[in-house]
Amino acid sequence: LIAFLLYLFYLVAPIGQLVEGAVQLQQGLAALKRIKEVEDLPGEPVAEPAATGGRPLGVRFDGVTFRYGDDRPVVHDEVSFEVPPGGLTALVGPSGAGKSTVFALLERFYEHQGGTISLDGRDIRDWPLGELRAALGYVEQDAPVLAGTLKENLLFAAPDATDDELLRAVARTRLDDLVSRLPDGLDTLVGHRGVLLSGGERQRVAIARALLRRPRLLLLDEATSQLDAVNELRLREVIAEVAAETTVLVIAHRLSTVTNADRIVVMEAGGVRAVGTHDELVGADELYRELAATQFLVS
Ligand code: ADP
Ligand code: MG
Repeated sequence: LIAFLLYLFYLVAPIGQLVEGAVQLQQGLAALKRIKEVEDLPGEPVAEPAATGGRPLGVRFDGVTFRYGDDRPVVHDEVSFEVPPGGLTALVGPSGAGKSTVFALLERFYEHQGGTISLDGRDIRDWPLGELRAALGYVEQDAPVLAGTLKENLLFAAPDATDDELLRAVARTRLDDLVSRLPDGLDTLVGHRGVLLSGGERQRVAIARALLRRPRLLLLDEATSQLDAVNELRLREVIAEVAAETTVLVIAHRLSTVTNADRIVVMEAGGVRAVGTHDELVGADELYRELAATQFLVS
């Protein structure tokens, strides 16, 4: 049980709990860095790494029901939707609709009670937990940075990534500008003891961190804080590029994300209300129209 809890902690604990002053973490990262320096001796030819660890995953929720506890009402009422492999799917809906719960069930932080959730046509209960978690990349909402260097932040969940993979993740998440601006590049200390990153930069650092694990399904809980126009455009480009290679499910809080999505799942009160493209939903769903009018600035 302790091993399991530790495992869960490292995989699952909101990174916020690890932020700032985590001396042991710092030491661990420093050790990992030293190991990597030994491993990364020059002269080894490096193959162009695949962007993801395997084929993009299709996702299927089929009559899924879930409640957080016996004393609470069911928060998910027969949730069904299907996402083919690859592409961008947005989840939208008012606060409390159940969007984050969908992610939690996919990660198996909680077990659903009824119905079936499958990935790649395989019931998630039949996936070994480690394999499942390795296949998923999860970017939590308003992900903070760790106390440490930018490089340590990026390699936190993928210490074995090569320098090439690191640079590619930086490029894919449009962090090159930031890196070239920082006094020591990737080795610059960030977080409250170093250079403070903007909300948009923090979010892209979190995406790069997740991409370095080469997920087959990326779960992205968008930051709710308003992004400036440049960061919003960058985020949109990054999401589109990642969605060209792997399946991306994003809990969307801004119109620019949903207008680009291949499909949008509108959730309300623990259920799925409508599924469609932006244009279809604007025509067909009143709640969607309202949300679109307010730019999805809800949590
Ligand atoms: P959203 O992400 O759409 O805002 P959530 O999935 O976070 O919605 O929440 C759906 C419902 O489940 C809400 O009523 C919320 O209060 C409840 N809920 C969320 N997380 C928990 C939890 N850990 N324990 C009990 N209830 C929860
Ligand atoms: Mg949420």
